[in-house]
Amino acid sequence: MLKPYSKSIWLFESLLTYKRIVHFISSRHQGFSDPPYDSFNLSFHVGDEPEKVLKNRQLLSSKLGFLIEDFVTLKQVHGANIVKITEKNRGQGAFDYKSAIEAADGMITNLPGICLMVLIADCVPMLFYDPNQQIIGVAHAGWKGTTEKIAENMVNTMVKQYGARPKDIIVCIGPSIGPCCYEIRSDVIKEIQNNLGGELIIFKDNRYYFDLWRANKVQLFNLGIGYQNMELSGFCTKCRRDIFFSFRGERGRTGRFGAGIMIKRE
Ligand SMILES: [Zn+2]
Repeated sequence: MLKPYSKSIWLFESLLTYKRIVHFISSRHQGFSDPPYDSFNLSFHVGDEPEKVLKNRQLLSSKLGFLIEDFVTLKQVHGANIVKITEKNRGQGAFDYKSAIEAADGMITNLPGICLMVLIADCVPMLFYDPNQQIIGVAHAGWKGTTEKIAENMVNTMVKQYGARPKDIIVCIGPSIGPCCYEIRSDVIKEIQNNLGGELIIFKDNRYYFDLWRANKVQLFNLGIGYQNMELSGFCTKCRRDIFFSFRGERGRTGRFGAGIMIKRE
């Protein structure tokens, strides 16, 4: 279960048992940003004042015991690209948007002291951890990333780059728009049917909904990750706008919360 650690930080029970990593899902509370970004917006890319985003990131990193320059972030594009983060990427996207890593929606590393963070308002954040090999990963999956199989790419990249075994990998699936609220239309329905299968689509009151959580869990299960190694927050961002940011819930004008993971420095 995802549990509140403070008003602004939530933590997954399964990851809390591992002492070598730091992780978080941030909420929208106790930051510095004004409406419609109120108040703990972590994105430089949504129209908020950069100074406020910096103050929010500063606050988050200090609460978790690291530095703002330890963040690495992406220019997220709703794709399925995974980038391996090395020493040269340290600090990319920490202080501004323009230095963020180009065109990717997931990243992995085995380097300590680098906090991989994705920014979220309805898409699915996923945190990956292999406690055997000390590999971490983070991904951002909307309907497009999910149908392009970013979760599958992530696991395959962890295996190929670092020799991870899927059965060792822990995956935490954070707050996103849930099957209760994620209505989809014909173009998206077609993509889902073609790439993943129609059983992931829910028909209710003459409308079609997509279960992003289940779609990603099935992908991970098919690669050899047991359901006991997956933790689902179960929070729908649109239903719980009182805690998280929701793009659809706020009609597009809102902030982004963060999902991050870091291997502690020795
Ligand atoms: Zn909902």
